[in-house]
Amino acid sequence: MQIAFIGLGNMGAPMAANLLKAGHALTVFDLDQNAVEGAVGAGARAAASPREAAAEAELVITMLPAAAHVRTVYLGEHGVLAGVRPGVPLIDSSTIDPPTVRAVAEAAALQGNPMADAPVSGGTGGAQAGTLTFMVGAAGELFEHIKPVLLGMGKNVVHCGGLGMGQVAKICNNLLLGISMMGVSEAMALGAALGIDAGVLAGIINTSTGRCWSSETYNPYPGVLPGAPAARGYTGGFAADLMLKDLGLATEAARQARQPLWLGALAQQLYQSMSQQGLGQLDFSACVKLYEAQANPS
Ligand code: NAD
Repeated sequence: MQIAFIGLGNMGAPMAANLLKAGHALTVFDLDQNAVEGAVGAGARAAASPREAAAEAELVITMLPAAAHVRTVYLGEHGVLAGVRPGVPLIDSSTIDPPTVRAVAEAAALQGNPMADAPVSGGTGGAQAGTLTFMVGAAGELFEHIKPVLLGMGKNVVHCGGLGMGQVAKICNNLLLGISMMGVSEAMALGAALGIDAGVLAGIINTSTGRCWSSETYNPYPGVLPGAPAARGYTGGFAADLMLKDLGLATEAARQARQPLWLGALAQQLYQSMSQQGLGQLDFSACVKLYEAQANPS
């Protein structure tokens, strides 16, 4: 299939690479020229704008940081909707708010393009391995049409309901992830302060009732997991500022639903502290740094 892929960052680049491996032809666009060159090296064709990327496409996929980028890429003067042919399906895999999904989908529907939201879980490791979970919000017919393509990048492709429901699932998952990573950091830092070996403590947690993805697959404490961002100075991975964005999506959705988010609100403030301290571009598991003893200014 001829696919336009826009947004080749930590997640988009390996997702696009897997589509190429699955035999699809890709036309790509990103503001970052290095990212484009990487995809071209893997076999994609470069386009000068989202509009140009979408012009020949039979399917459009976007993987962008936040809602503002999604609006620009679809609705801008040189955006997808200015170039795509009627009837071509559009999939946005970014994590954004459901109202933006609906606004962009309404504009797309006016020119005959059906849209799905399909945010993902599984991190950069899952993107590279092609084992992502896709949470899809779409009409049933569109879901069946796009499912085979998504299976080229993931192993679980779940129909969560109509348009926007993929984002609802994703926002709730990341609310829990943001809280659980803080919880694991707090427990690991306490253990270290009390003198237990970090590897021993992680091993106990991971065979006990505290076990979770944040402790087992992505442990924030340095020296526990060789493949986790903690082992490479918290580079790559999922930026703390993106987690801050996702907790903002959760608290805003909760405000509209008049639903309390006590732990989510606290976690949001903790990631905001990271951002204030200049740690926002590090992987979100660097939140363990908030628990490091500060130098005594006396
Ligand atoms: P990233 O910042 O690494 O990549 C985003 C890419 O979009 C960058 O290459 C950037 O240059 C490009 N971009 C920005 N504006 C653009 C524009 N107007 N036109 C074209 N390209 C543009 O982000 P990421 O980590 O790949 O995350 C992407 C989305 O996936 C986010 O919504 C994030 O919340 C979500 N997500 C990330 C992870 C993760 O582990 N990194 C996991 C699940 C979901």
